[in-house]
Amino acid sequence: MGSNFSSFTLADEADRKVLEAKIAARLERDRHENGTSYSGGIGMKDCILLDSKIFDDADAALEYLQATYDDKWGPGGAVRLRSPARIDPPGKDETMLRKEIEAGAMSPPSRRVAEEILARVRAGKSKTRGCAGCGSSIATSHIRSVHCPVCGADFVSTEADKAKLARLAAELERRQTRLRVLEAARQAASRKKYGETTRWLVGGWCSS
Ligand SMILES: [Zn+2]
Repeated sequence: MGSNFSSFTLADEADRKVLEAKIAARLERDRHENGTSYSGGIGMKDCILLDSKIFDDADAALEYLQATYDDKWGPGGAVRLRSPARIDPPGKDETMLRKEIEAGAMSPPSRRVAEEILARVRAGKSKTRGCAGCGSSIATSHIRSVHCPVCGADFVSTEADKAKLARLAAELERRQTRLRVLEAARQAASRKKYGETTRWLVGGWCSS
């Protein structure tokens, strides 16, 4: 028997009683749709505690709920999420950066460099490669990874390969940081322009 973290968002209500009734209705609807036994759905919860925490970041809110209301047999929790009432679409820079990162995610730097190394090893003249770590001699045709099949040490990367990997990894990190900065700036500008809205994020670990 496992558990599944189930969550949903709900518009804020000035009246707590109305909010609680809406949450209860949502749970009831889930029970109606998914049953009352190990469904993994939010209807497995019979109590949701309204938490006083407020978050600007949806991921942080979700992590908080998962860590705080961690008992699948205990109550679930609800926290407020503050976000701009409207968000401007991303600008050219942000869109391009995201595309570049997504394209790169298909082949992360470690895999790209490893593929280059293995192609070079296969194209080389030597029939075997020695591992300095354990002294094994590995047939080139059996090399499928930069790691020695006997001891696991990286035995074919050169210093230049390692430098290249470090450079590509740093470049990726720089792009990701830049994307986060652009996103945060867009959120902040939208918040100023359109004001804020508050929703509730409701969730809990549900037995499945
Ligand atoms: Zn080895």
